Amino acid sequence: MAQCIFDRIRDGDAPGHLVVDEADVIAFLDARPLFPGHTLVVPRRHVATLAELDEATASAVWDVGRRVAAALRPAVGADGAFLALNDEVSQSVAHVHLHVVPRRRKDGLRGFFWPRGRYETPEEAAKIAAAIAASLAPQS
Ligand code: AMP
Repeated sequence: MAQCIFDRIRDGDAPGHLVVDEADVIAFLDARPLFPGHTLVVPRRHVATLAELDEATASAVWDVGRRVAAALRPAVGADGAFLALNDEVSQSVAHVHLHVVPRRRKDGLRGFFWPRGRYETPEEAAKIAAAIAASLAPQS
């Protein structure tokens, strides 16, 4: 079994609420969301850092981030989104991941990644994951 938690989610060996499952990229809910709908966009192939990511996959990651950001408007009522990627420094999982965080005006977010909430139930998380997936524009 893979060591990397994101590889295990990809392989179905660890729980995850998938919102995108495409050829080169997957995306799933962050388990400790800044706000409900906070999504991680991840290259399917295990790549630890941005420097190791090939251009086509980097483009695919960014394109999925763009589409998830748009999907968060109808899915969770976001006004906008915050996209961020910790590359080595502050990167707690050694598999490239782009954070896509739904934002609302005056949502009180001051720092970047705190404080975190929790989903009340797996059902709540599943519902939000399904709403994002259903709101995604098709792959171009
Ligand atoms: P970073 O600190 O930028 O590397 O972000 C890593 C993110 O992965 C954090 O926001 C964690 O909440 C998230 N995370 C870690 N383990 C899991 C998991 N099993 N499922 C979903 N998200 C996770």
